[in-house]
Amino acid sequence: MQEEQIKISFSGVILAVQPRSNVWRYRLDNRTHTMTGYNLFLDGMADGTKKKFGIAISEKMQQKFHFRTGAEISGTAWTKKEPRLEYADYYRVGGVKILRESAANEEKTAPPWTEEVPDLSVYDRRGCRMLALSCWKGKCLKCKWACMANVSIEYNWGKARRYRFESFCYGPKSCSLYKMGKPRPVPYKDCDPDYDEGWLDDICTQGRGEDD
Ligand code: SF4
Repeated sequence: MQEEQIKISFSGVILAVQPRSNVWRYRLDNRTHTMTGYNLFLDGMADGTKKKFGIAISEKMQQKFHFRTGAEISGTAWTKKEPRLEYADYYRVGGVKILRESAANEEKTAPPWTEEVPDLSVYDRRGCRMLALSCWKGKCLKCKWACMANVSIEYNWGKARRYRFESFCYGPKSCSLYKMGKPRPVPYKDCDPDYDEGWLDDICTQGRGEDD
Protein backbone atom coordinates (compact mmCIF):
# COMPACT_ATOMS: atom_id res chain seq x y z
CA MET A 1 0.00 0.00 0.00
CA GLN A 2 1.35 3.44 -0.93
CA GLU A 3 1.64 6.22 1.65
CA GLU A 4 1.87 9.97 1.23
CA GLN A 5 5.49 11.08 1.23
CA ILE A 6 6.74 13.84 3.51
CA LYS A 7 10.05 15.68 3.47
CA ILE A 8 11.76 15.68 6.87
CA SER A 9 14.95 17.06 8.42
CA PHE A 10 17.32 14.82 10.32
CA SER A 11 20.56 14.92 12.28
CA GLY A 12 22.44 12.32 14.26
CA VAL A 13 25.47 10.17 14.89
CA ILE A 14 26.08 7.31 12.46
CA LEU A 15 25.84 3.97 14.26
CA ALA A 16 26.37 1.84 11.17
CA VAL A 17 26.96 1.98 7.42
CA GLN A 18 25.79 -1.14 5.61
CA PRO A 19 25.18 -2.16 2.02
CA ARG A 20 21.57 -2.06 0.88
CA SER A 21 20.15 -4.74 -1.39
CA ASN A 22 17.02 -6.16 -2.94
CA VAL A 23 16.65 -9.94 -2.84
CA TRP A 24 14.30 -11.95 -5.02
CA ARG A 25 13.29 -15.41 -3.86
CA TYR A 26 11.42 -18.07 -5.78
CA ARG A 27 10.84 -21.39 -4.06
CA LEU A 28 14.01 -22.98 -2.77
CA ASP A 29 16.55 -22.73 -5.54
CA ASN A 30 16.36 -19.05 -6.55
CA ARG A 31 17.83 -16.29 -4.40
CA THR A 32 19.09 -13.29 -6.37
CA HIS A 33 20.82 -10.36 -4.65
CA THR A 34 20.94 -6.90 -6.27
CA MET A 35 22.99 -4.20 -4.56
CA THR A 36 21.15 -0.84 -4.58
CA GLY A 37 23.22 1.49 -2.36
CA TYR A 38 23.81 1.76 1.38
CA ASN A 39 21.82 2.16 4.58
CA LEU A 40 23.00 4.57 7.27
CA PHE A 41 21.69 3.85 10.76
CA LEU A 42 21.65 6.91 13.00
CA ASP A 43 20.90 7.91 16.57
CA GLY A 44 19.56 11.45 16.65
CA MET A 45 16.57 13.53 15.55
CA ALA A 46 14.28 12.89 12.60
CA ASP A 47 11.16 14.88 11.82
CA GLY A 48 11.42 16.60 15.21
CA THR A 49 11.58 13.34 17.19
CA LYS A 50 14.57 11.87 19.04
CA LYS A 51 15.06 8.27 17.85
CA LYS A 52 17.17 5.68 16.07
CA PHE A 53 16.43 5.49 12.35
CA GLY A 54 17.75 4.35 8.98
CA ILE A 55 18.24 6.31 5.77
CA ALA A 56 18.89 4.82 2.34
CA ILE A 57 21.58 6.49 0.23
CA SER A 58 23.09 5.90 -3.21
CA GLU A 59 26.56 4.55 -3.92
CA LYS A 60 27.41 7.95 -5.44
CA MET A 61 26.56 9.70 -2.16
CA GLN A 62 28.68 7.27 -0.14
CA GLN A 63 31.60 7.80 -2.52
CA LYS A 64 31.23 11.58 -2.15
CA PHE A 65 30.93 11.81 1.66
CA HIS A 66 32.76 8.64 2.83
CA PHE A 67 30.36 8.11 5.75
CA ARG A 68 31.83 6.21 8.73
CA THR A 69 30.47 5.14 12.08
CA GLY A 70 30.85 7.86 14.69
CA ALA A 71 30.44 10.79 12.27
CA GLU A 72 27.67 13.29 12.98
CA ILE A 73 25.62 14.43 10.00
CA SER A 74 22.46 16.34 9.10
CA GLY A 75 20.27 16.64 6.04
CA THR A 76 16.82 16.18 4.58
CA ALA A 77 15.04 13.03 3.41
CA TRP A 78 11.63 11.72 2.44
CA THR A 79 9.37 9.17 4.09
CA LYS A 80 8.75 5.93 2.21
CA LYS A 81 6.10 5.48 -0.45
CA GLU A 82 5.80 1.73 0.19
CA PRO A 83 7.02 0.79 3.70
CA ARG A 84 6.84 -2.97 3.04
CA LEU A 85 9.41 -2.62 0.24
CA GLU A 86 12.10 -0.65 2.08
CA TYR A 87 13.76 -1.37 5.42
CA ALA A 88 15.24 2.11 5.90
CA ASP A 89 12.86 4.71 7.36
CA TYR A 90 13.78 7.47 4.91
CA TYR A 91 15.31 7.89 1.47
CA ARG A 92 15.96 10.54 -1.24
CA VAL A 93 18.51 12.22 1.02
CA GLY A 94 19.66 15.79 0.28
CA GLY A 95 21.43 18.79 1.80
CA VAL A 96 23.90 16.60 3.68
CA LYS A 97 26.29 18.33 6.08
CA ILE A 98 29.07 16.63 8.03
CA LEU A 99 28.81 18.16 11.53
CA ARG A 100 31.65 16.08 12.98
CA GLU A 101 34.01 13.66 11.27
CA SER A 102 34.39 10.11 12.53
CA ALA A 103 37.38 9.62 14.81
CA ALA A 104 37.72 5.97 13.72
CA ASN A 105 40.25 5.48 10.95
CA GLU A 106 42.34 2.55 12.12
CA GLU A 107 42.35 -0.82 10.38
CA LYS A 108 40.45 -3.33 12.49
CA THR A 109 42.03 -6.65 13.46
CA ALA A 110 38.88 -8.25 14.89
CA PRO A 111 35.16 -8.15 14.07
CA PRO A 112 32.93 -6.24 13.73
CA TRP A 113 34.71 -4.66 10.77
CA THR A 114 34.05 -0.90 10.90
CA GLU A 115 36.36 0.39 8.19
CA GLU A 116 34.75 2.40 5.40
CA VAL A 117 32.40 0.30 3.27
CA PRO A 118 33.75 -0.82 -0.14
CA ASP A 119 32.06 -0.19 -3.51
CA LEU A 120 28.96 -2.25 -4.28
CA SER A 121 30.83 -4.30 -6.88
CA VAL A 122 32.86 -5.79 -4.01
CA TYR A 123 29.70 -7.05 -2.29
CA ASP A 124 28.41 -8.39 -5.59
CA ARG A 125 31.60 -10.32 -6.12
CA ARG A 126 31.80 -11.70 -2.57
CA GLY A 127 28.23 -12.96 -2.20
CA CYS A 128 26.63 -13.46 1.20
CA ARG A 129 25.27 -15.92 3.75
CA MET A 130 22.15 -15.67 5.88
CA LEU A 131 22.90 -13.96 9.21
CA ALA A 132 20.85 -14.50 12.38
CA LEU A 133 18.71 -11.48 13.19
CA SER A 134 20.03 -11.48 16.77
CA CYS A 135 23.58 -11.07 15.39
CA TRP A 136 22.50 -8.34 12.99
CA LYS A 137 20.83 -6.40 15.80
CA GLY A 138 23.73 -6.99 18.19
CA LYS A 139 27.49 -7.07 17.60
CA CYS A 140 27.22 -7.21 13.80
CA LEU A 141 25.17 -4.03 13.42
CA LYS A 142 28.14 -1.73 12.81
CA CYS A 143 30.02 -4.20 10.61
CA LYS A 144 30.53 -3.16 6.99
CA TRP A 145 29.66 -6.73 5.91
CA ALA A 146 26.22 -6.81 7.59
CA CYS A 147 23.15 -6.17 5.45
CA MET A 148 19.39 -5.92 5.94
CA ALA A 149 17.85 -6.78 2.59
CA ASN A 150 14.46 -5.89 1.13
CA VAL A 151 13.13 -9.30 0.12
CA SER A 152 10.49 -10.04 -2.48
CA ILE A 153 9.12 -13.63 -2.66
CA GLU A 154 7.47 -14.85 -5.86
CA TYR A 155 4.41 -16.36 -4.17
CA ASN A 156 2.21 -17.04 -7.20
CA TRP A 157 4.27 -16.70 -10.34
CA GLY A 158 3.57 -13.38 -12.09
CA LYS A 159 0.47 -12.73 -9.96
CA ALA A 160 1.40 -12.26 -6.30
CA ARG A 161 4.51 -11.48 -4.29
CA ARG A 162 5.19 -11.43 -0.57
CA TYR A 163 7.60 -9.04 1.07
CA ARG A 164 9.81 -9.14 4.15
CA PHE A 165 13.27 -8.11 5.38
CA GLU A 166 16.19 -10.50 5.92
CA SER A 167 19.66 -10.12 7.40
CA PHE A 168 22.81 -11.32 5.58
CA CYS A 169 26.59 -11.31 6.07
CA TYR A 170 29.12 -10.60 3.29
CA GLY A 171 32.07 -11.10 5.65
CA PRO A 172 34.69 -13.83 6.07
CA LYS A 173 33.22 -17.30 6.56
CA SER A 174 35.61 -17.77 9.50
CA CYS A 175 34.21 -14.76 11.45
CA SER A 176 33.85 -15.73 15.11
CA LEU A 177 30.64 -13.67 15.49
CA TYR A 178 28.79 -15.45 12.69
CA LYS A 179 25.60 -17.43 13.28
CA MET A 180 23.25 -18.42 10.49
CA GLY A 181 20.12 -18.57 12.61
CA LYS A 182 17.11 -20.72 11.78
CA PRO A 183 16.42 -21.96 8.23
CA ARG A 184 14.13 -19.50 6.44
CA PRO A 185 10.80 -20.58 4.98
CA VAL A 186 10.07 -19.64 1.38
CA PRO A 187 6.31 -19.96 0.83
CA TYR A 188 4.55 -20.67 -2.44
CA LYS A 189 0.81 -20.70 -3.06
CA ASP A 190 -0.95 -23.98 -2.18
CA CYS A 191 2.36 -25.66 -1.22
CA ASP A 192 4.17 -26.47 1.98
CA PRO A 193 6.97 -23.93 2.39
CA ASP A 194 10.48 -24.87 1.32
CA TYR A 195 13.26 -23.97 3.77
CA ASP A 196 16.47 -22.18 2.86
CA GLU A 197 18.83 -24.18 5.09
CA GLY A 198 22.13 -22.75 3.94
CA TRP A 199 23.15 -24.50 0.76
CA LEU A 200 22.26 -21.38 -1.25
CA ASP A 201 24.80 -19.58 0.96
CA ASP A 202 27.45 -22.08 -0.15
CA ILE A 203 26.62 -21.37 -3.80
CA CYS A 204 26.52 -17.57 -3.28
CA THR A 205 29.97 -17.57 -1.62
CA GLN A 206 31.66 -20.42 -3.51
CA GLY A 207 34.20 -18.03 -5.04
CA ARG A 208 36.03 -17.35 -1.77
CA GLY A 209 37.75 -19.27 1.00
CA GLU A 210 37.22 -19.32 4.76
CA ASP A 211 39.22 -16.18 5.53
CA ASP A 212 38.46 -14.04 2.44
S1 SF4 B 1 29.38 -12.23 11.26
FE1 SF4 B 1 29.53 -11.04 9.38
S2 SF4 B 1 28.46 -9.13 9.81
FE2 SF4 B 1 28.92 -10.12 11.78
S3 SF4 B 1 30.89 -9.23 12.42
FE3 SF4 B 1 31.33 -11.13 11.32
S4 SF4 B 1 31.72 -10.46 9.21
FE4 SF4 B 1 30.63 -8.79 10.25
